[in-house]
Amino acid sequence: MDGRRPLRCAVIGAGMAGILSAIKLTEAGLADLTVYEKNDQVGGTWSENTYPGLSCDLPSDLYSYSFALTPEWSHPFSPGPEIRAYFERVAREHDVLSRVRFGDPVTQCRFADGRWHLTAASGHRDEVDVVIAATGVLHHPRYPEIVGLDTFEGPMFHSSRWDHGVRLDDARVGIIGTGSTAVQMVSALVDRVASLSLFQRTAQWIMPQENPAYPEERREELRTHPERLSKMRQELSDLFDHFSNAVVDADSAGIKMIEQACVANLEESVRDPELRERLRPAYRAACKRLVISPDFYAAIQRPNAELVTEAIERIEPGGVRTVDGSLHELDVLILATGFKADAFMRPMEIAGRNGATLEQAWNPRPEAYLSISIPDFPNFFMVNGPNGPVGNFSLIEVAELQVHYILQLIERLRGGECTEISARRDALADFERAREQAARNTIWVTGCRSWYLDDRGIPAVWPWSFVRFRQEMAAPDPRAFEYA
Ligand SMILES: Cc1cc2nc3c(=O)[nH]c(=O)nc-3n(C[C@H](O)[C@H](O)[C@H](O)COP(=O)(O)OP(=O)(O)OC[C@H]3O[C@@H](n4cnc5c(N)ncnc54)[C@H](O)[C@@H]3O)c2cc1C
Repeated sequence: MDGRRPLRCAVIGAGMAGILSAIKLTEAGLADLTVYEKNDQVGGTWSENTYPGLSCDLPSDLYSYSFALTPEWSHPFSPGPEIRAYFERVAREHDVLSRVRFGDPVTQCRFADGRWHLTAASGHRDEVDVVIAATGVLHHPRYPEIVGLDTFEGPMFHSSRWDHGVRLDDARVGIIGTGSTAVQMVSALVDRVASLSLFQRTAQWIMPQENPAYPEERREELRTHPERLSKMRQELSDLFDHFSNAVVDADSAGIKMIEQACVANLEESVRDPELRERLRPAYRAACKRLVISPDFYAAIQRPNAELVTEAIERIEPGGVRTVDGSLHELDVLILATGFKADAFMRPMEIAGRNGATLEQAWNPRPEAYLSISIPDFPNFFMVNGPNGPVGNFSLIEVAELQVHYILQLIERLRGGECTEISARRDALADFERAREQAARNTIWVTGCRSWYLDDRGIPAVWPWSFVRFRQEMAAPDPRAFEYA
């Protein structure tokens, strides 16, 4: 006993951020902890998404926990199953698995008498001092609103709900959507299927990036010299700092270099001028999340691949009817239509101080101070919450910084300085004002539609450099919080 107040904690979600939170809470001596996970395994994104071609679009040496670097990655950008296995291994080795309550989503969190009262779908109840919501961003599938969608006769599923029972070999496959997921799937599927039709509403800029398998000698060398891993991670992190500086300044030299690389990739890789123009976006590179691929252009030029740019009129039992009257006959239809990125921990019902509900607090849109804390929701902290850094950064680095920040707030509770801590209303308002102002200079507002943009067209993301994010996360500003 060290004289500090004992606290019971709940972590909601056992994806990358939930595993991290559980490890760090335990290391800090906060071992009275339950992790709630609605799925029956850990890994979140990387256990739910099992589509062919899934891989990280960040270097794996960066997309790793800083405290669990590994020499074992097979590729510079490793495949999804390897990433899932990595999270599972880290969770096992850090004894997180034994703390997870699987298969039971939390449906309600209510703050009363200084504690959070949790209810899960099974009826299980818990009472905790601190909640960390690590419920993910790209988690709730978004289904397209297309007339006749449910009339399709063949198998049809969302990319994050892959039906492995469906045979794709020699089938006529349609994919709706052109984000990173669709691009990865096209490359992985085109040589397996009879025909592949990609229904494109918006063309994407593609950043070329080779991804050859690492030779065994590299792994062997890093096993012998593990100290080199952290140096490599640091170098990659510095490189991505340049990227973050580029995207938050639409006039920067960095963004122009990215644009040139994408334009050259299109010009040099697509032979047919008509197809090239249909693949050419009408907005600037990196305005939408940059898609990275070594071979998408090669794949879409295969004889059995078809890029459909006519708008979809409706789905029919036999396929997709486009507005030019053509019926694209299909056996299987895959919806690579993304996620409801503004749902966060909803549909959980959350009520803070004096019964204030999350729905009220987030009307008209989600907001949180530094994306971590909501006024009147004391001792409730989010990892990868609203308006934080997303884009082509490592969300692991983001989450590590956020958890470090959250632990400092929890330390105040533990030290007895206060029993309740949450962001001040004026701190949130100032933060949001500055964020909206800064967002006007970013590449994300240069003329495209993307999931980054909120209902006003303002990017719902961190609009400053990553260096600034690191500085903000170093230590909470005590004046930004209210205490009870
Ligand atoms: C296809 C795809 C590819 C991606 N590629 C990259 C990439 O290359 N690089 C990158 O940085 N990021 C990438 N991302 C983003 C990715 O989501 C994050 O990197 C990271 O995995 C997020 O981890 P998380 O723990 O915050 O959320 P998630 O992985 O979404 O985990 C959230 C967990 O919370 C659980 N949960 C939610 N609500 C409840 C509830 N009420 N009760 C109990 N449990 C609940 C969910 O079941 C889930 O397991 C990708 C995302 C997708 C979808």
